[in-house]
Amino acid sequence: MIIEPRTRGFICLTSHPVGCAQNVKNQIDYVTSKGKIAGAKKVLVIGSSTGFGLASRITSAFGSDAATIGVFFDKPATPNRPGSPGFYNTAAFEEEAHKAGLYAKSINGDAFSNEIKEQVVNLIKQDLGQIDLIIYSLASPVRTHPVSGKRFKSVLKPIGENFTNKTVDFHTGKVSEISINPAEGEDIENTITVMGGEDWKMWMDALQEANVLAEGVKTIAYSYIGPEVTKPVYRNGTIGAAKDDLEAKAFTITDALKAINGNAYVSVNKALVTQASSAIPVIPLYISLLYKIMKEEGIHEGCIEQIQRLYSQRLYAGDLSLDEKGRIRVDDWEMREDIQSKVVNLWESATTENLSKIGDLEGYSNDFYNLFGFKVPGVDYTKDVNEMVSIPSIQE
Ligand code: NAD
Repeated sequence: MIIEPRTRGFICLTSHPVGCAQNVKNQIDYVTSKGKIAGAKKVLVIGSSTGFGLASRITSAFGSDAATIGVFFDKPATPNRPGSPGFYNTAAFEEEAHKAGLYAKSINGDAFSNEIKEQVVNLIKQDLGQIDLIIYSLASPVRTHPVSGKRFKSVLKPIGENFTNKTVDFHTGKVSEISINPAEGEDIENTITVMGGEDWKMWMDALQEANVLAEGVKTIAYSYIGPEVTKPVYRNGTIGAAKDDLEAKAFTITDALKAINGNAYVSVNKALVTQASSAIPVIPLYISLLYKIMKEEGIHEGCIEQIQRLYSQRLYAGDLSLDEKGRIRVDDWEMREDIQSKVVNLWESATTENLSKIGDLEGYSNDFYNLFGFKVPGVDYTKDVNEMVSIPSIQE
């Protein structure tokens, strides 16, 4: 079929298998061009099909020749209905990994459930014995709790008071004011339940109890801090409360891993266009201004550049350069004072009329379409493509 983008707000209902495969190949080429990293050899990535998780899987596999198991929640295609981008990304990743002689198997299902944890444990026992790196990179709006069976929803709201600021509709470039009501009822607790650290700890407990963690194992989860302008809705909002919880769990997990000299870390990453971040109000305007400035300074990075730097210059470089809260920081360039003060200046003057000049709206929009395999250079979108792609290790 010929597949075109069909967008609704910040989601795209279609995705392109050839474009997704090209994105994966481009990321592999980037990692390969940077040379080998003496990293972990047996790696589990939870949330491995898009964004930072996919970049982590690619960096482990093609940077360190690692065997990887990936867990994600994606839709396969049905005739005339494309699958989700994570499905196509994983199919392409596995194909390239197998071509390179690397072990790569994938599990498509709800990572929050006991069943998927059990499946992963069994697969590790069967194929790898023990693993030495676990990347936790889930971003989900909902979680069904494995103990209570209750379904929790996360919300993106400020805490305590109403928040009003600018935002942009990146499809039209229209800058407008948005007002978000504060969290109410159980919004904060629910968001912590979905995006906090409980599930990360449950994963690590399940893996440790099954004795599939190698001596000196490392586990990393991803967090975000961001600038003053997004603070009320991000870091001081409901999602920030969940990130506080996630960051605190790194210490709990490290304590639990003492006997095998294991360590849990949180890496604070840069703001990037992903399916998760395009859903957060105000962030698209911030990102379009940030991209413009970071590109001008020659320090712009995408997910793959971020994670390649995390592995090669922090995790496996002998110096994690932890901040005062024990976190790894690869948002260091985003948070540089000169970069942030330029963003603040542009933020104040940003309007519908000037945004395409002072901000990188085009870069934002391209990155958004790229997430779904569209507008990828070199791909002929007028060509008929087979939507029925399958992931080699998954028999549907
Ligand atoms: P993403 O939406 O691109 O990826 C999320 C991944 O989680 C996908 O592989 C998806 O399939 C998987 N997933 C979601 N629900 C699942 C479930 N129930 N079971 C199994 N898999 C599931 O998101 P992302 O932006 O790469 O975010 C990953 C992490 O990085 C998050 O913790 C996020 O907060 C953090 N982070 C993001 C940014 C940013 O700007 N995007 C910045 C810093 C940190």
